[in-house]
Amino acid sequence: KQRFPNEPEYIQAVSQVLPTIEEEYNKHPEFEAANLIERLCIPDRIIQFRVSWVDDKGKVQTNMGYRVQHNNVIGPYKGGIRFHASVNLGILKFLAFEQTFKNSLTTLPMGGAKGGSDFSPRGKSANEVMRFCQAFMTELYRHVGADEDVPAGDIGVGGREVGYMFGMYKKLTHQFTGMLTGKGREFGGSLIRPEATGYGNVYFLCEMLKTRGIELKGKKVLISGAGNVAQYTAEKVLQLGGIPMTMSDSDGYIYDPDGIDREKLDFIMELKNIQRGRIKEYADEYPTAKYVPGKKPWFETGCEIALPSATQNEINEEAAKALVANGVIAVSEGANMPCTPDAIKVFQDAQILYAPGKAANAGGVSVSGLEMSQNSGRLSWSAEEVDNKLHWIMENIHENCVKYGTEENGYINYVKGANVAGFMKVAKAMMAQGIV
Ligand code: NDP
Repeated sequence: KQRFPNEPEYIQAVSQVLPTIEEEYNKHPEFEAANLIERLCIPDRIIQFRVSWVDDKGKVQTNMGYRVQHNNVIGPYKGGIRFHASVNLGILKFLAFEQTFKNSLTTLPMGGAKGGSDFSPRGKSANEVMRFCQAFMTELYRHVGADEDVPAGDIGVGGREVGYMFGMYKKLTHQFTGMLTGKGREFGGSLIRPEATGYGNVYFLCEMLKTRGIELKGKKVLISGAGNVAQYTAEKVLQLGGIPMTMSDSDGYIYDPDGIDREKLDFIMELKNIQRGRIKEYADEYPTAKYVPGKKPWFETGCEIALPSATQNEINEEAAKALVANGVIAVSEGANMPCTPDAIKVFQDAQILYAPGKAANAGGVSVSGLEMSQNSGRLSWSAEEVDNKLHWIMENIHENCVKYGTEENGYINYVKGANVAGFMKVAKAMMAQGIV
């Protein structure tokens, strides 16, 4: 806290992990002797740069660019790139820290990193987005590579942006390698990668529900966000018989009393991915739905499940209390750190099912890892094969959470389970590799 006073999200993420691993850590005096905690909390390296680009009016714009290479002890650095006006170093440090443990949980050989820019694609033309992505990569390309650091998408970075960045990397290096994941299918992207985070979160949710003998079928689900994670969360919820009731963007949310069915979800996908419109247009198209500007969906009643899939700190204590009071039985995080520490305490005190993002949303990076394997082998696996592997990985992560997180009264503390399981693998690898 003294070293990084201006990075509240980073302090929040670290403060949430450390108390949960304390007991396991204390069983290993050699960890303390190696000052493992400080070495694990402080990123290996931070790259920070200016991005200059020319907008459609011919004006020269500048943005900040970052890559936080947090830890590569179990594999090449790996983690998404975020383009959003709110991006700053503290947010990327929190995300890179979380990514290290998440990647450890996936069973795949990937270290942790995160990067991005305070550039907002919102309201920019396709050409502006392309020029920005190219300018961003002219600096970043020196620091990434298939065996070094493999970025992917995140908020504001989808297939379009990944494609532009990949094109520039290839031009600069004269190499066609799997140095980015989330690529288009035609040039090395994995099937199921766009779906992976949302699908994976719903697979994880189903594993949690199973521990209480509950099915997703027929349950009403609150979803936030309307981007990549939210869309495929809604798709898998629908496939498994659940009923998505809400979706949102940074301006507000929609609630559909009849549920968001396949046709309505197709409308949202077209609206967000092709037209790049706002969620409020859903209520214009489907007048029985309501649009609530400036608010989040957590206060709606009659729903059993909440899947926050937009951004960090979107469920605070008040919202958590409302969810519990309204009978929500499970909260599974599609986004990274969407619940504040106070909100998590509310869920855990009420002993409802609650899964942190580093476990529940690890499906995205898992399929990114599978994309890396396919690229290395110059192979392309079928959608079914990738989906089966994703399903297996999510079950495996769930098992590990149960193993390390089950408390004396039988309540599964998924936060503790995920943190301890993720930490132990990284800690052992760090010990084995010496002080470097
Ligand atoms: P997208 O950019 O595709 O979608 C983000 C959605 O969240 C949009 O609807 C956006 O609305 C909304 N949003 C963004 N910032 C805010 C904000 N400050 N307040 C309210 N709403 C906001 O991103 P993704 O779906 O990829 O990512 C969503 C979350 O999932 C993030 O936390 C990300 O880190 C996490 N995640 C993503 C993975 C992936 O594979 N993509 C993997 C693991 C985690 P608007 O359009 O108005 O900005």
